[in-house]
Amino acid sequence: MPLTGKQLIAGKWLDGRADTFRGVDPAKGENLEPEFTCADEFQVTEAVNAASECFTEFANTSPQKRAEFLNTCADEIMALGDELLERVSAETGYPRARAEGERGRTCGQLRMFADWIVKGEYLDARIDTALPDRQPMPRPDLRSFNQALGPVGVFGASNFPLAFSVAGGDTAAAFAAGCPVIVKAHNSHPGTSELVAQALAKAVEKCELPGGVFSLILGSGKRVGAELVKSPGIKAVGFTGSFSGGTALFKLANERPEPIPVFAEMGSINPVVLLPEALKNSAESVAEGFVGSLNMGTGQFCVNPGLVLGVEGEDLDRFISATSDALAKVGAGVMLNKATQQGYQSGGAKLRDQQGVEEVATGEATGDESGFTCQASLLTVSGKDFLANGELQEEVFGPTSLVVKCRDRDELLQATAALQGQLTGTLQCTEAELGSYGDLVELLRQRVGRIVVNGYPTGVEVCHSMMHGGPFPAATDARFTSVGTKAIERFLRPICFQNYPESLLPEALKNDNPLGIARLVNGEKTSDAV
Ligand code: NAP
Repeated sequence: MPLTGKQLIAGKWLDGRADTFRGVDPAKGENLEPEFTCADEFQVTEAVNAASECFTEFANTSPQKRAEFLNTCADEIMALGDELLERVSAETGYPRARAEGERGRTCGQLRMFADWIVKGEYLDARIDTALPDRQPMPRPDLRSFNQALGPVGVFGASNFPLAFSVAGGDTAAAFAAGCPVIVKAHNSHPGTSELVAQALAKAVEKCELPGGVFSLILGSGKRVGAELVKSPGIKAVGFTGSFSGGTALFKLANERPEPIPVFAEMGSINPVVLLPEALKNSAESVAEGFVGSLNMGTGQFCVNPGLVLGVEGEDLDRFISATSDALAKVGAGVMLNKATQQGYQSGGAKLRDQQGVEEVATGEATGDESGFTCQASLLTVSGKDFLANGELQEEVFGPTSLVVKCRDRDELLQATAALQGQLTGTLQCTEAELGSYGDLVELLRQRVGRIVVNGYPTGVEVCHSMMHGGPFPAATDARFTSVGTKAIERFLRPICFQNYPESLLPEALKNDNPLGIARLVNGEKTSDAV
């Protein structure tokens, strides 16, 4: 189906009744066809009502049925073929290989959730059988498991047009949990969003699910996005994007008569701590890997390494010099959109203006002024100035990094202690240093969601043990991840059945264990019948 510029509301493609806009090719700065129409408040309500109406039916589908649906979503996305890859590149400036890689990741995560839910582990089924003769009080029969939370509103990020967007991790996790989803498309890739929505609509139809299971609405975050979050039928929000966007939606959700959770993954500067022995042994190779990580995707990753901490001296100078040499050869990159380019320029200018900050290297000049291009940049500052100025921790979204030259080990510890919550913290170190710097490692552990040893923060594996989140301001709730199968936990809630008739219990809690899943029965993990 060619792009229509319409909304998908409960299985129907409808013209939006509000304003219009177009996608833009960031490499050329040119508008793309077609024109997209935006939803008005009644259309947002229509989508939410349809999701609410079908919630019970979808929530009570078997894990096998939802696994079939998730796999069909992946099949249909693949069936979009080149048209999808071309549109991703046109709307983001990403090369085809990146678009293809991200499509693989998106379909992989849908399929991973499909495989995961049929195992039943996510249900966390628990049974405590009745003890009628217990003294001084009998114990009733108590059984609990996780059930779907309710319709979920999803906001994707501009920099992951597939993997953190319409059918990205939040949507996959919500579907896996049994929650209908309404996506507020990112204005930076409306065509990509519509194509993926077409695929999901086909999957809904093929799996004979109600149309309300999935809707796509377009429009600005401040209007359509806010309407969505305020809608009483929405019971949780998944968000990936900026600190300002995430916190605005978090605030709105908490001001509702019925507050709801907003799981927002926001910006991060992902500190890389260079410990002395590792730096002495391999300053140049660490620099080489660092420059690769800093420039990956033109630095437009939430796990981009925007901060380096080290102790001043010859070895840190070797690292800075090798990084500067490599950075000077980095060509100008295309940024996702004009706002991102402007944010990069103004954020970089603000950082350069701060007390003690010095720019030591820049990438190649952009030359071509027609697209939204940018230059990489490396800056330095003393540990003292870093500690005195919290603004040096503001994310500059793009290929800019600040090296903090600490006076000694103590100042390195202080700088680590001053860090705000982060998605990741990286240590370049020897194994012995991991032990001898135990105090620093402990400080880092308290501030990040993932610790990387002798690697770089970019490259977030989608797997069962991934933690992509972290203490505020990296995320609004440090207990949850937005990547990997544990991400499903955001969209589930426990329910307990006390003295419930056995024959009417959900399958997961019936005595004979028809799902064949592992359960906690009277405190022991078992797949046996009760
Ligand atoms: P963004 O500007 O926050 O936009 C994300 C979505 O939220 C858009 O649909 C946007 O709609 C909406 N939105 C933004 N502000 C809003 C508000 N005040 N009220 C309601 N809705 C609002 O994020 P982005 O464009 O993707 O920018 C990149 C940023 O995301 C970077 O800071 C980066 O570090 C971060 N990021 C984080 C992760 C992560 O996993 N933590 C991943 C990728 C990116 P409009 O476009 O209409 O405003």
